[in-house]
Amino acid sequence: MTAKIIDGKAIAKKLRAEYHARVDVLRSRYNVTPALVVILVGDNPASQSYVRGKIAGCKEVGIRSELVELPASTTEEQLLEHIERLNNDATVHGILVQLPLPAHIRVSSVLEKISVEKDVDGFHLYNMGGLVTGNTVFSPCTPYGVQKILEHENIRVEGQNVVVVGASNIVGKPTALMLMQQDATVVICHKKTRDLGHFTLLADILVVAAGVPNLIVPQIVKTGAVVIDVGFNRLPDGRIVGDVDFEGVKEKASYITPVPGGVGQMTVTMLLHNTILSAERAATATTSPFRRRA
Ligand code: NAD
Repeated sequence: MTAKIIDGKAIAKKLRAEYHARVDVLRSRYNVTPALVVILVGDNPASQSYVRGKIAGCKEVGIRSELVELPASTTEEQLLEHIERLNNDATVHGILVQLPLPAHIRVSSVLEKISVEKDVDGFHLYNMGGLVTGNTVFSPCTPYGVQKILEHENIRVEGQNVVVVGASNIVGKPTALMLMQQDATVVICHKKTRDLGHFTLLADILVVAAGVPNLIVPQIVKTGAVVIDVGFNRLPDGRIVGDVDFEGVKEKASYITPVPGGVGQMTVTMLLHNTILSAERAATATTSPFRRRA
């Protein structure tokens, strides 16, 4: 069997065209331009590159974006003040603080400071909790991208055995919860899992987000499985690879995402989606999707 190679770039392009049309409607009907503010603290080169991709994505679909660059010496209090100002600015629909942050700033207090209605990354504790109950205000972008890929390819999730390799708060756990919400039977594996292959061989849908090149080899993949590779690893020779032995596994799977060109394209796309959704809610809703209890 040779797998269908899922073209994440093409899916992202199609979705972005749809999102551009939604932005046009917001402008013409409500005189609203969706706006995203990205805060970057320090000068981590990888973060700078991710932020550039997000800003470019905004431009592509007509979202107004602003990059706030703060020095690595910024205190937690100063960062929280910036967020507070943006929370209160009705022209801003999405606030994203690029992670990681310098060690002296507590990530949890920063993420919880962002208004839930503007938490387009979906990392606020409320949105995290909403993954358990199935009512997030915004879904986190990478897991949402995985879900959209499955949807786009008409891959049934209900009743399927899903194995997620990786249990981080930003990818593994939310992906597992979102697919469980769609009535999959879900197993999460992580670095302490004994005999990874024992579990992965059960997977009708295998989602891998470990950050370990070649972790998933054909011997531990079920014939006909759908393999979604979230991993993004730079090898010493500069090549970018996922966590899956792509050449080997594509001969055994029914669908597979390449790296690059698979899930990566979808993460920013879902951020654009969330920002537009936030602007649509602000423009049309008389009530907030989230009501803070006193
Ligand atoms: P992380 O380091 O926070 O978590 C990695 C998880 O994988 C942990 O739960 C760990 O226990 C598990 N793990 C590590 N080694 C393992 C092993 N040998 N066997 C089984 N499980 C193992 O990483 P993360 O932030 O979740 O990211 C995971 C990967 O996804 C990375 O390569 C990252 O670059 C990539 N990523 C890609 C996107 C994208 O848009 N494509 C977005 C986020 C992360």
